[in-house]
Formats: sequence, structure tokens, C-alpha cells
Amino acid sequence: MTAPQAAAQTINPLLADWNAAFGLPPFKAVTPEHFRPAFDRALASHRAEIDAIAADEAAPTFANTLESLERSGRDLEKVANVFFVLAGADTGDAIEEIERGIAPLLARHSDALYLNTGLFRRIDTLYQARETLGLSAEQRRVLDRYHTRFVRAGAALSKDAQGRLAAINERLASLGTQFGQNVLTDEKSYALMLEEGDLAGLPEFAVAAARAAAEERGHKGKHAITLARSSVETFLQFSARRDLREKAFNAWTMRGEGGGKTDNRHIVAEMVRLRAERARLIGYETFADYRLDDQMAKMPAAARKLLDEVWGRARAKAKAERDALQDMIAQEGGNFALAPWDWRYYAEKLRKKKYDLDEAEIKPYFQLDRMIEAAFETAHRLFGLSFKPADVPLYHPDARAWEVTDASGGHAGLFVGDYFARGSKRSGAWMTSLRDQQKLSGNITPVIVNVCNFSRPAAGEPALLSFDDARTLFHEFGHALHGLLSNVTYPLLAGTSVSSDFVELPSQLYEHWLEVPEILKKYARHADTNEPMPQPLLARLLATRTFNQGFATVEYTACALVDLDLHGLKEPGALDVAGFERDRLAHIQMPAEIVMRHRIPHFQHLFSGGGYAAGYYSYMWSEVLDADAFEAFEETGDAFDPATARRLRDFVYSAGNLRDPAEAYKAFRGRLPTVDALLRKRGLAEPANA
Ligand SMILES: [Zn+2]
Repeated sequence: MTAPQAAAQTINPLLADWNAAFGLPPFKAVTPEHFRPAFDRALASHRAEIDAIAADEAAPTFANTLESLERSGRDLEKVANVFFVLAGADTGDAIEEIERGIAPLLARHSDALYLNTGLFRRIDTLYQARETLGLSAEQRRVLDRYHTRFVRAGAALSKDAQGRLAAINERLASLGTQFGQNVLTDEKSYALMLEEGDLAGLPEFAVAAARAAAEERGHKGKHAITLARSSVETFLQFSARRDLREKAFNAWTMRGEGGGKTDNRHIVAEMVRLRAERARLIGYETFADYRLDDQMAKMPAAARKLLDEVWGRARAKAKAERDALQDMIAQEGGNFALAPWDWRYYAEKLRKKKYDLDEAEIKPYFQLDRMIEAAFETAHRLFGLSFKPADVPLYHPDARAWEVTDASGGHAGLFVGDYFARGSKRSGAWMTSLRDQQKLSGNITPVIVNVCNFSRPAAGEPALLSFDDARTLFHEFGHALHGLLSNVTYPLLAGTSVSSDFVELPSQLYEHWLEVPEILKKYARHADTNEPMPQPLLARLLATRTFNQGFATVEYTACALVDLDLHGLKEPGALDVAGFERDRLAHIQMPAEIVMRHRIPHFQHLFSGGGYAAGYYSYMWSEVLDADAFEAFEETGDAFDPATARRLRDFVYSAGNLRDPAEAYKAFRGRLPTVDALLRKRGLAEPANA
């Protein structure tokens, strides 16, 4: 190491003590060049900590093995948390390059931990003696979880098999990073530029958003449709120009499949092959079997049973919906078959006709700031939390912070909201953290981030949301509460570190409170007049909840089924990704007018990292839980019933991974859920009728 580098490292702000309020990182002082040396140092020091634990001469105890592990790697966590917040929400060429370099290093590092034989031997010794160690329930859970994680990572395998696993993991990490970056590149490089005459049908808010998008891309005075979901979906919903809808739709659904450098098909093929190989090495028949063994569902067959139960009903409802849309085309004198780029447009028209409701009429009632307040008040009434704006330096001017206090006024954490779409942000919406709650090293409070991609308003205008956007805001805020309310001792169990078919329960459940009349009445107020939404409009809005649910359920469920098929392959071989997708969709008789919500070449849940691989079914699994859980409140006649809210907090929102998910749910509800509430919620309980 040369002297200047050593000097640069000693003042690396990422590794210095963070003295900013609430434990925030020193964002202003951090530049991309700081990350690589900070990662290198933090990885090396964590590695040394792990090796020291493994090499301890003393007989293993919970304290000298698992507690030491839980205390280790804190620098790495700090650096990685900051880095991945930026890689998602404020990225650029420099960050992307570091990300490509760091992904395989992190995978290798994770293997150095989970494939460490000496360490596994100590954990296994403790595990075999688990009944005699006098552990608390939480400590016992920590031991069980670590043991399971090590076994599932391959700690008990031969050296040869472990070597192959490590190589696979590293390669998968690189491929996953590349996959996500390719999608982002495709999204960034595309804009449908509209001339004045191309705006037919677009309501004023959509025109304003298109103007802002063009301006952000350096075309002031013009209009642009981008591939951000909020931009392109709005366009598909309103544009009267069938030719332009087709163009935008094709660009949107072809992300990751355009040939050339950003084509993701060969990446998918390789990832699926490597995942299948990894599962076989660890002793499972397929990746889906491996993955679901440690989920609430336990087996692919259980997930598939739920999806199948919904699929037939959803398809029938979608067909009835399609017929109604086709009738509408005929009534207007159109003489063409409904195509995928027509669905949203005619559905919007039909919605307007049936319920006398149009998005442009609704949107002024959903101001971003009022919806944030609505989410806060809901948290206050359910869990006693309060939110106060905090003026702290963050990573981007769009990001805002609120200090969170509990019912007794004590500091509970910091919440950061970053709501507008921009070129440096990945598409979608997510929750992440800059710091997770724990009590092992003092009372550490969480710093939780919500990132969304809502259309930025024109200068001086209020930001307006669609009803779906508002639901997304509540959804992500539900995840945020899972992090903010976390009340555990050990970092391993904190907040959202639960199985992925349980993690959507707190978020999806929270969406229900957006529709509670007293919340809507108070916060859905017109941007110009501040009048609450008129009762008849509110009634019509709520009546549309099951409208177009055949479509929504089909576009989602098809993804979940294809995911299970793809990761259920025993020997994927040289997979033709496009052909596979076509085959599977034909097999389940996918309606021709509907396209998967995420086609495989841009299906980031599965391939940009592995978070939802063989796990996309989780949203519906969680929806079974959330629909059933909200009925627990409805049964009391009070959407904020204190006793129910208390149990919800104790066993779900604050409980992290303290319990097996099925047990946690039973403790809250008194029983396991049934699918009935979900079918009612989606309007699929009765015979199909559009
Ligand atoms: Zn979610």
C-alpha cells in the first residue's frame, strides 16, 4: 500500500465514527471513491473477527460463539447499508462500477462465513446440546436460525463441494448485478418523445409529468414518456393514440430482451442453471424445493396449490373483463381485437362509464404530503408512534426525514422518505435501512428508508398520486414499520429478517388502512380547494376495488407460476428463456390480451439479486395472511381496535424473526388463515362476472 492511499484510508468518512444526528452516515463527506477502500477494510476486519471466533481455544458457548458473531461485522454493515441505499436510489456510472466489483467480493465473504468448517463445528456442538444450555427463547431462536443457515449454505458438505458452491455463489452475485444494471440501462436510454399533437387523451397531470420527465432529460418544453411504471402505465391508461400506446408498451415489455449488450436472456439461463446446481449440491431436487424448505410454505406444492386455487377463477374473471372491453371497442365503431396495449386504456374508459369515475378526477384528492400524513396517523392510532420532520443531511435533495417517537415520547428511530422518480433511481418501490434495530450493543434504534417512483410534479405544483400510488406508499410504509417497531435483542432477528412469504404481511396488511373511511375522509382532500372527497365519489372509488381484478390477478399469478416452473427445473441445461416463457404461458392458458406483470428478461425480483427467486408466490401467500388479518379488525367493528392492534404489534410488527411465521400468525389470530378472505377481497369468491 502506498503512502497516499494509507492517508486517504485513515480519513475515510465511511469508517470514521458517525457523529451526525440519529446515527446517520456523513452523506455530505462521502464520495464514490470512498466505497472500495472502505469495503476492503471492513471485509478484512470482519474476516479477522470470524477467524478469531472459529479459532477460539475455549469450548464453544452461546456467548463466545453466537453473541460474538452477532457483534461482528458492524463496519461492513455500515458501509454496505450506505452503499446499497445509493446503488438503488442515487446511482451513476461510478457507483455501478463499484457495485459490479463488490458483488462477487461480498458473495465470497459470505461463503467465508457460512462455509467456515471450524465455525460450523462450534455452532453444531451448541445445537446438539441446545436443550441443556439454559438459553432464553430468543437465544434459542438465534441458535436454530444460525444452524439452519449454515446447513443450507453447505457448511456440512465436503471441501470439494464447498469449493464449487463458493464459485457458483460468486458467479451468481456478478450475474445478478449485471441483470439489474441492464434493466436500468434499458430504462434510462428510452424515452418516447411526444409532440403537441401526440398528447390526445392525456389529462393535465399526465401532461405535466411528461413535461417534467422531458425536462429532466434535457428537453425543456417537450414531453417524454419513460419506462418508469408510473409514467408508462399512465400513458397506456389515457393515450388515445393506439399507435403510440403500442410503441410504448413494446418498449416497456421488451426491457432486457432487446439484443445487444443489455440483453438479459443468457444471464437468466446461466443463473437458473447455477441455482439448480447449487440446490443439488446441498441435497435438494430443485432450487424451488431448496428455497421453500425454509419458508412458511415449506414446499413448492403448497405454494402452487394456492396459486392454482386462484388461477382458474382469475382467468375466468379476466375473460369476462376482456369481453366487456371488446364490446366497448365495438360500440365505439372500432374493428380490431383488443391487444395488450389496449387493455388499460379501455379498462379506464369502462371504469369511468360504469362508476362515472376517472383517474383525473380522483388524483387531485391524493396529494403526496397528505397521504404521508395519513400513513403516519394510522401508525399513531394503531401503535402510538409520532412523526416530526427532522432537518438532517441526506443523500439527495428529494429525500426527507422524520424523527419517530413512541407513545411515551421516547426516541424510536428515524424514517426517510424518497418519493420521486429520477434517472439515478431504479424502478419500483422498496424499503431499506441505514441502520437496523438491536439491543445487543446498546439500545440501537433503526433508520429506515422508503424509496418510491412517483411522478415529479411541475415546479410549484403539489405532487399528486393515483390511488394505486397511494396504496404503494402505504405498502412501503408497512415495511418501514416492520423495521421501526422492531424490538429484539439480536441483530439476526431484527425487523424484516423473516421468510419472504411472511415479509409482505406487514406491508400488504397496512394497505387496508388507506381504505378505512375515516382515514380517507380526513386526508383525501382536493389539492386546490382542500375539500374532502365528496361522499358519492368516495363510495364510487371504493366500489371499484374489485374492478379489473381478473386482469391484475392474472398478470401477477402468471409471474408466480412461471417463477415456480423456472426454478422447479431439475436440469435446466441450455435454457431458451423466451421459448420457456412462451411454453409455460401456453400451458396455463394465459389470456392473449394480458402480459406477465414482469416478463423474465426484466424480472428483477428473481434475478436482480435473488430475493424472490422461487418466491414471487409470496405476495399472494402474504395476501392470504393480510386479508385474513384485516378481518380480525373488521370482526371487532373497529379498524383500530386496541387489543387487536396490540397483538399485531407484539407478534408481527415488533417481533422480527423471534418465532416461526406460522406460530407468529397463530399467536396474533388464534388460528391459521384460510383463503376465503383473499377471494372476497379480490372479488373472486363468486362466479366470474365483469
Ligand atoms: Zn413489499
